[in-house]
Amino acid sequence: MPKKSASVVRNVIIIGGGIASHTAALYTSRATLQPLVIAGIEPDQLSTTSIVENFPGFPEGINGPDLITNCKKQAERFGAEYMDGKADSCVKTKEGFFEVGVDGKKFLTRTVIIGTGASARSLGIPGEKDYWGRGVSTCATCDAALFRNKTVAVIGGGDSAMEESLALYKFAAKIYIVHRRDEFKASKIMQDRVLKLKDKIEVIWNTLPTKVLGTGKLVSGLTLQEVNTKKERELKVDGMFLAIGHTPNTAIFSKLIALDEHGYVVTDKRSRTSQEGIYACGDVQDPIFKQAITSAGTGCQAALEAEKYIEQLKATGKY
Ligand code: NDP
Repeated sequence: MPKKSASVVRNVIIIGGGIASHTAALYTSRATLQPLVIAGIEPDQLSTTSIVENFPGFPEGINGPDLITNCKKQAERFGAEYMDGKADSCVKTKEGFFEVGVDGKKFLTRTVIIGTGASARSLGIPGEKDYWGRGVSTCATCDAALFRNKTVAVIGGGDSAMEESLALYKFAAKIYIVHRRDEFKASKIMQDRVLKLKDKIEVIWNTLPTKVLGTGKLVSGLTLQEVNTKKERELKVDGMFLAIGHTPNTAIFSKLIALDEHGYVVTDKRSRTSQEGIYACGDVQDPIFKQAITSAGTGCQAALEAEKYIEQLKATGKY
């Protein structure tokens, strides 16, 4: 027997619990589409951040978790419905609806907005989780200003590691780039920009961190291991910025919509995916900017497009 919820065809299901999803929920609820938000089980990125100083409208900054709670409350005020749980399937039905599965329950909808984000990869070494948000960060654009005149390590050798280092250069006293090989993967132009800043930036080649050290409250250093000799040493740092890539959370959509070679959802300028009726917003479709404000912006776009699509269905008798 299908569950009661399965017989209702919803206008919009939003999958994800970050700021992109909350913004899509705000816009679609204000358009009286009564969205259902399947918010996931893991905290979104802002909920694990401390102060956010680059979201407009908060001259003194705002705590990441407060920003997220406020966005959710704002959407709920206009009728957005939230449920915890992880969407584990998303398929198209022969009637042309989408069926989203969550913990054994099935929900039918005319449109889906994907805001499942991209998880920053971590090293999985001792101390990393303990000091997450207390010296361990995955976003220099967000956190660099907290490391004014401090010493930091950036882990990785791709374009993100170069960008993180450049963002930190403006604030930190010293930046070590710790890379596991003897050459960078980053584009030549980005490498050149970084490598000429010898006054503050030093590369530690062929090396991996094996432990994050701390005072109990904040990061105080790293244990580093030289890859070839396995020799270990300690490096005093106040922060570690991970730039070892992101994994977009798109596994359940891979048969339904086009993904790029890294697994990100391919969208056009209007947040539309390759499947009519499915939209994507936030980091799940953005390997470049990955900012709270750009996520909110694409959440708005996705919502407006979903609204327009539903209007079209009504106008053509296909609702
Ligand atoms: P990448 O996958 O390009 O680079 C990841 C880096 O982290 C690599 O140097 C890799 O080492 C290293 N790494 C991966 N796993 C580990 C691990 N477990 N331990 C230690 N090191 C590890 O990711 P990025 O986030 O840098 O870039 C993603 C995409 O976004 C790229 O296409 C990039 O060009 C693009 N981008 C573009 C920007 C721009 O144009 N301004 C800015 C940022 C990103 P190894 O080299 O040995 O594989």
